[in-house]
Amino acid sequence: MSEYKCLNCGRVIEKEDILRRVRCVYCGSKILFKEKPTIVKKLKAR
Ligand SMILES: [Zn+2]
Repeated sequence: MSEYKCLNCGRVIEKEDILRRVRCVYCGSKILFKEKPTIVKKLKAR
């Protein structure tokens, strides 16, 4: 599940909230960026 983050207030917005209007539901900012889940890859040294 992808989440968006507001550049103005920094709050995380769920995708369902953006489907209606592409703007921050908290401050009304339209500047959002897609937040990628932090995936830590562990490399095994052979
Ligand atoms: Zn905001």
